[in-house]
Amino acid sequence: MPLTDVMEQIRTAEADAGRPAGATKLIAVSKKQPRARIETVLAAGHRVFGENRVQEAADRWPPYREQHPDLELHLVGALQSNKVGAAVAMFDAIHSLDRPKLATRVAAAMAASGRAPELFVQVNTGEEPNKSGVLPADTDEFVAFCRDECELTIAGLMAIPPIDEAAALHFALLAKLAERNGLGALSMGMSADFETAIAFGATHVRIGTAVFGERESPPP
Ligand SMILES: *Cc1c(COP(=O)(O)O)cnc(C)c1O
Repeated sequence: MPLTDVMEQIRTAEADAGRPAGATKLIAVSKKQPRARIETVLAAGHRVFGENRVQEAADRWPPYREQHPDLELHLVGALQSNKVGAAVAMFDAIHSLDRPKLATRVAAAMAASGRAPELFVQVNTGEEPNKSGVLPADTDEFVAFCRDECELTIAGLMAIPPIDEAAALHFALLAKLAERNGLGALSMGMSADFETAIAFGATHVRIGTAVFGERESPPP
């Protein structure tokens, strides 16, 4: 099945990069996928999933969470400030911290709920006007703000490279920014480029279509 193929490709890419087997976590991105496909992947024993919208995740993950207490849910899409409470309550990791107001709200929601999702700062490595994320030049300052002002523990950085550029350059930049800030986790690599991302040190790959097949409708 496609999940098994992707797992094998990940193990091969880790070995090729001289990294230990299991160094990369597969986040199966289930946005816009039919439930039957999610259930197939759950039945195969996979437990780490990603969604890009808080509402879509809230609509379908609670029953699966009941069945599988070891489930791990990652928010990989942009987070609106008014959804922070729901996101902190539901997700085990948030990959899209990208502005001071959001960091402040996440810190408050964590304090109020006692929950502590793993946090990633999203970097707009391609400096694309319509993409979320802090600019590379602002990354150090924003990470420092999260740590010092909000007392958040930041696990690492996340990026989505521009579709029309060589992803490797963006992965290398993200790795450099993470190292400079003493951050160990790198959320980078999707269906088209996860092997490259692993070569550049990805610790989390976010893979949708290669695991589940084409999505039901294009993302809005
Ligand atoms: C949809 C999505 C993915 C998965 O994309 P595929 O190309 O289907 O692997 C990864 N990361 C984010 C942020 C996404 O929104």
